[in-house]
Amino acid sequence: MRQPLVAGNWKMHGSRAENASLVSGLLDLLQPGKRAEILLCPPFPYLMETGRLLKDSGVALGAQSVCAESQGAFTGEVSAAMLKDVGCRYVLVGHSERRQLFGERDALVARKFVAAQGQALVPVLCVGETLEEREGDQTTSVVSRQLEAVLAVTGVQALAKAVIAYEPVWAIGTGRTASPEQAQEVHAMIRAKVAERDATIGGSVRILYGGSVKASNAQELFAMPDIDGGLVGGASLKADEFARICAGAG
Ligand code: PEP
Repeated sequence: MRQPLVAGNWKMHGSRAENASLVSGLLDLLQPGKRAEILLCPPFPYLMETGRLLKDSGVALGAQSVCAESQGAFTGEVSAAMLKDVGCRYVLVGHSERRQLFGERDALVARKFVAAQGQALVPVLCVGETLEEREGDQTTSVVSRQLEAVLAVTGVQALAKAVIAYEPVWAIGTGRTASPEQAQEVHAMIRAKVAERDATIGGSVRILYGGSVKASNAQELFAMPDIDGGLVGGASLKADEFARICAGAG
């Protein structure tokens, strides 16, 4: 049985004060004893304070990116060891904004995945196709390529301690959500690709859906057999909305 996971990706929004009030508001609203695991990924400068606020809450802390190198002269970068040091348990790798806006290619994403696991962080590997790729019938080939690029470096065993997030680029921040059936089709394909290599890991790896998840559509998405929760951007910036999404994950 896969434990659902709902992650909030707060991107580059807000201020220190807004961040703290969002965390506190959320902690007030989250229902204790729920089955789903909750993860918050604030911007780097707010990680420590968020970690302090989350202490003993059971809500996990994660970062939005990580450096592929372990240490050295890499101005502006943050290492996996540093993320671990400030209390992170998870880190996103290969988010489409990193791939598209910052030129992160498959090989770099694979190195970041390895760097994260090197510090016992759980990487959340984001994959997904653009609208053009979907319309060109390339969804399977693009998502497979992104997944294989990591598997070729790490081997399938690495997915026993990782999460995959399917995020169609055309659905991120656009208000245009993949239908539950569209998302399920890709999730099942991803799971089958993993299961081809290792049936147990294929059955146990958590695959999140991301792309304009809201309280109004979360439950039907999360009800699909291969959707194990969500990676939520915009809607995670409102405590009540995000809490309702989390409740929808069980
Ligand atoms: C994201 O940031 O990964 C995301 C899915 O954003 P949104 O929920 O706003 O589409």
